[in-house]
Amino acid sequence: MVDIEKALERIKTVVGPRGWIADPAEQEPYLVEARRLWRGATRLVIRPASTEEVAAVVRTCAEARVPIVPQGGNTGLVGGGVPPEDGRNIVLALGRMNRIRAIDPVNFTMTVEAGCILAHLHEAAAEVDRLFPLSLGAEGSCQIGGNLSTNAGGIAVLRYGNTRELTLGLEVVLPDGRIWDGLRGLRKDNTGYDLKQLFIGGEGTLGIITAATIKLFPKPREIETALLGLSRVEDVMALFARARAATGDQLTAFELIPRAALDLALVHIPGTIDPLAQPHPSYVLLEMASSGTESGLRALLERLLETALEQELIGDGVIAGSSQQAKQLWHIREAIVEAQLYSGSIKHDVSVPVSRVADFIIRATTGVTDRLPGIRPMAFGHVGDGNIHFNLTQPEGADTAAYLARWQEFNDIVHGVVRELHGSISAEHGVGRLKREEITHYKPAVEIELMRRVKRALDPANIMNPGKLVSL
Ligand SMILES: Cc1cc2nc3c(=O)[nH]c(=O)nc-3n(C[C@H](O)[C@H](O)[C@H](O)COP(=O)(O)OP(=O)(O)OC[C@H]3O[C@@H](n4cnc5c(N)ncnc54)[C@H](O)[C@@H]3O)c2cc1C
Repeated sequence: MVDIEKALERIKTVVGPRGWIADPAEQEPYLVEARRLWRGATRLVIRPASTEEVAAVVRTCAEARVPIVPQGGNTGLVGGGVPPEDGRNIVLALGRMNRIRAIDPVNFTMTVEAGCILAHLHEAAAEVDRLFPLSLGAEGSCQIGGNLSTNAGGIAVLRYGNTRELTLGLEVVLPDGRIWDGLRGLRKDNTGYDLKQLFIGGEGTLGIITAATIKLFPKPREIETALLGLSRVEDVMALFARARAATGDQLTAFELIPRAALDLALVHIPGTIDPLAQPHPSYVLLEMASSGTESGLRALLERLLETALEQELIGDGVIAGSSQQAKQLWHIREAIVEAQLYSGSIKHDVSVPVSRVADFIIRATTGVTDRLPGIRPMAFGHVGDGNIHFNLTQPEGADTAAYLARWQEFNDIVHGVVRELHGSISAEHGVGRLKREEITHYKPAVEIELMRRVKRALDPANIMNPGKLVSL
């Protein structure tokens, strides 16, 4: 085996002076997770500039058995992208690999390097009159390699699918340092196992994604945004079914905002507005888009809302009259997440079949409030995908540390309801360190065993992001 010190020196030579960081102060942003739940340590942060450099680094690590933590924008919420505390792993950050290699507006594809920031990809697609629809709160700093590795969801899954569905091909550096060039821009390719799917959502445990060919779509010409007030969560999902059936593929977002979360945002986050004259227990932020002009989108939305008002499905609503107003409405959606940082919050990112969302919210709310009267459940997010962020804010005046110490107790209640409704305990954020043990209780044993076998087959030395996603 190659000596570790020699291996680290060789890696420094491969990436050159701009490609490594050993200074603890400069390493800081690479070591702390987005919600500050974990802080790791490392000898080296490596910042390669090309696929060949990544391959050379991984080959050296494989020979010396040095574990590697791949890292994108470090916005992940499950502790997958930060190294463990023991300092044995190197961090391999992809940020310097940020070239757009090719855009093909006729094939509706773009081939991009893993370190491209998601928002930059939106701009690049718009320049050729196309849309790359993946959109999430962290889009100004997360990278496409991280999005692929977590199979990110976000606000437009309803219409366009999650990252998995937006990907045609990948380039990957395997755990032995070989490069797999799977950068195909094909919509049809039935030539055996679809290997890219192993790396998408693989959280860096099977290899390092260095580039991807992703799908583009026609750019929307008309967008309508509305915010609606409702009394009951059952009505939210009835409205969803009606809106989806009436508008077809034009419904692009359907986000739930509870009043309790809006109240927190009104207190803590400047620029948040109370959008309707009277408060309502629930709000829906709905967006429709059409790539045609004169599509009649506004008339369709107005008809939908008129009927919903007549039938008392919604109590009130506002349609954005300008893109500025639409931004204000979307600001509410972003502000409710930020506002929850001001109190102790036990978080869940779960999914159930869309038809069971209301059932989930009602049962889980009863379960947690029976256990701790005064607890403030905040069920919000992408309910049109069956994805509920079911966060539990501490009771007013409670001791935050004592409350957060009960995290697992509330996980058990909430995940128990998820199980009853045949849902998933991680809808879009992934598993990482946070849920690595938890998933073993919620997935069939056969599935866990197959995951372990895949991991051992591709990474027998267990150097790719060990201790994340799957325990061996
Ligand atoms: C404010 C906010 C809002 C968010 N909203 C959403 C949302 O709506 N939907 C959603 O799905 N997520 C959301 N997230 C979570 C996060 O942004 C996503 O998980 C995102 O895809 C992570 O990308 P990243 O580049 O930051 O990856 P990182 O955090 O750096 O890494 C995530 C995982 O991927 C691995 N990885 C990173 N790059 C590579 C690579 N090139 N090859 C192999 N493995 C790699 C890492 O090892 C780690 O396991 C949100 C986060 C924040 C802070």
